[in-house]
Amino acid sequence: MHKIFTLLLLALYSVAGFSQTNILSTNPIAEDIMLGNYDPANYPVQAGLNHPDVIVPAILANVSPDSLKEYLIKLSAFETRNTGSDTLSPVRGIGAARRWVYQKFQEASVASEGRLVTSYLQFDQNICSVGQHRNVFAVLPGLDETAEGIILIEAHLDSRCNSVCDTTCLAEGMEDNGSGTALVIELARVMSQLAFNHTIVFMATIGEEQGLHGADAFATYAVEKGIKIKAVLNNDIVGGIICGETSSAPSCPGLNHVDSTQVRMFSSGGFNSAHKQLSRFIKLQYEEELKDLVAVPMMLTVMSAEDRSGRGGDHIPFRQKGFPAMRFTSANEHGNANANDPDYHDRQHTSTDILGVDTDGDMILDSFFVDFNYLSRNAVINGVAAGMAAIGPVTPDFDAGKNGDSLYISITDPNAYGEYRVFVRTSSNDFDEIYTTNNLNVTVPKPSGVVIVSVASVDANGIESLFSKEVLPPNITATGEELDEQPQADFELFQNRPNPFDEATIISFMAHKASGYKAAFLTVSDMEGRVLKRLPVKIQQGMNEIVYHHGYNVTGVYAYSLVVDGKVVDTKRMVFAN
Ligand SMILES: [Zn+2]
Repeated sequence: MHKIFTLLLLALYSVAGFSQTNILSTNPIAEDIMLGNYDPANYPVQAGLNHPDVIVPAILANVSPDSLKEYLIKLSAFETRNTGSDTLSPVRGIGAARRWVYQKFQEASVASEGRLVTSYLQFDQNICSVGQHRNVFAVLPGLDETAEGIILIEAHLDSRCNSVCDTTCLAEGMEDNGSGTALVIELARVMSQLAFNHTIVFMATIGEEQGLHGADAFATYAVEKGIKIKAVLNNDIVGGIICGETSSAPSCPGLNHVDSTQVRMFSSGGFNSAHKQLSRFIKLQYEEELKDLVAVPMMLTVMSAEDRSGRGGDHIPFRQKGFPAMRFTSANEHGNANANDPDYHDRQHTSTDILGVDTDGDMILDSFFVDFNYLSRNAVINGVAAGMAAIGPVTPDFDAGKNGDSLYISITDPNAYGEYRVFVRTSSNDFDEIYTTNNLNVTVPKPSGVVIVSVASVDANGIESLFSKEVLPPNITATGEELDEQPQADFELFQNRPNPFDEATIISFMAHKASGYKAAFLTVSDMEGRVLKRLPVKIQQGMNEIVYHHGYNVTGVYAYSLVVDGKVVDTKRMVFAN
């Protein structure tokens, strides 16, 4: 037994050592910029380039599906980008791949007269028997060195086969995650021609497939050095697909369909999550800055879960270290990650995650598994959201209360921007209502049921700050005094959010008292009353939230109940709509 345990430990250790050590930026200038220790005059740029009327059209016009395709063709040529693969070969393996990404950043640097500063983030850790690793990143210095917090756009560069340390198999990793890597390279090229108040960092990470190690190294490095991060946009599997024989439910609507209009935004938490608020900010920027300008409108979905069931990504280590972080993923992928499905076939993490096939035998790929136009639209969404976060105003604070049909909001804004948005949401992950006001004290209609409020400031260019914390407004009197109302019941079960839902949903309840019970559960039943899931709940005073992963089970109506000490407190219905 002891022997087996030791072997198991050794096996784990050969995949990855426990944590990163000796984390350093190979270019100290890149580090100084991220710390705000630089003079923007050393990175001169034409005036007026930090305006949304310049930034948005430039990103839209210059992000190119052809460039993205070219990068993917180049990335496929390295044959494998496994973190443990060859670092010395000039043509094959992770070393050649990351030197090429570095070179692409350098080309963008030259084209921007040195404004883009390139570096590696090096760290020591045993991953697949290799002891030292490097992320590649490029820093675009902000116009204002005092603007707090960098904006990070990132993707993992590494690829894998089924066996996570197989460094000899073909692992072109085109969907996972050549697509995200190409997006990051393209945005570094396009955005380094523009200017932003905050510093923007473009990064390709390593060791994601063995446990998010490259992202963890950067997040740890940021904490150790005191680098502030305002937002992390992680791109992992963002190329979409052309629906072929191998794509599984719930992805493709049908053979030869093109998945080209929906992207999912995964992030941690429910009520008052800075990560979900970031996803909502990204969606709002799309609606306000891009939707009217684009030929093909996109649907941006704020997902309930932090990631798809049983999966994780580079946004997680950043969230764990307290930085707002989210992940973009195509709505339709090759494979649904449900290996129990009899029709399951997944190109990801196999030698078949290739760019496409040559159907007419002329040695040129003519049928692709990555949709370059879709990837390009995702790059534009990233660029505009990151760009607006990098020029927008500072987030205000606020208080809220409710009485009858009214919500009262009182905003505190030391920067006196003079314009604000008030966001009200009820039963979805999105905002139900957005109000614009020039007043610090506002009254807006209160929808029925549970109501969640947050605010943003708006600058003279019409750009929002990142959204504030969220508040559940307490009951107040006409004079603004908080009403010390005795609640009717100890618990109040709310409608799940969103509803109808897709793969996962958030079930929440309010606990007006959190002690004196022995055991509590949330149960999910079908309409015949069969209990499908019984989730243990540790009740906390205030808002309680549980993410329920439905996976790809049968669509339809389900019931959920809060059960405390064997008694059903309340039951509600929810709809799984695929
Ligand atoms: Zn991935």
